[in-house]
Amino acid sequence: MYRKKYDLVRAEKVEWLAKSIFTEFPEEITGLKFYLLDCGCIYYQRVFSDGTLDPRVAVYRDAGYGTCDICMLKAVHWRQMVNDVVVVYNIKLEIAIQRHQ
Ligand SMILES: [Zn+2]
Repeated sequence: MYRKKYDLVRAEKVEWLAKSIFTEFPEEITGLKFYLLDCGCIYYQRVFSDGTLDPRVAVYRDAGYGTCDICMLKAVHWRQMVNDVVVVYNIKLEIAIQRHQ
């Protein structure tokens, strides 16, 4: 039960984060690859239109939590703490409406 609720909160956070990044860079990015870590931090890379990944990895963390003692101390490489990987694509829907007069 707890696990389910936790996953839902994370899914909403990923969705919100994806939307705000797509809004910020509407042309250059096709998708976003999110890495959800055990410590609660979210790492992400942008996916360009040719399918390549941005070599720069960004970190998202709730401002209220301060800095992360777990992954930011770099005792363990963050990739070893990845719990889930989620890829979100920026798909623009085009709807054609045919009017009958
Ligand atoms: Zn962390």
